Amino acid sequence: MKEDLCRPLSCPVCRARFRGSSQCSRCGADLAVLMLLAAHAYALRHAARQSLRHGGFQAALTSAQAAQRLHFTAEGSLLSVICTAAANPLSGQPQKPA
Ligand SMILES: [Zn+2]
Repeated sequence: MKEDLCRPLSCPVCRARFRGSSQCSRCGADLAVLMLLAAHAYALRHAARQSLRHGGFQAALTSAQAAQRLHFTAEGSLLSVICTAAANPLSGQPQKPA
């Protein structure tokens, strides 16, 4: 996913990039819980995009916001804004995807 490629996760102790291991390659910190949170946030963003495609705007917003609480990203913030706009249209009904 683009967000993962643009800004890789890093160790909160020494800022070394994650290298696919649950233990930091530089300082040895245990990264397993952080990796699980990031993976769960990724799955929630995927669910939000799926809900958007199928017209489930409130469900999309709920998933996008939950993802941001677990692992904040700039792209996730943009997804939350889109979901907020879809779930709360300024006028009229939201347009269902074709
Ligand atoms: Zn580290």
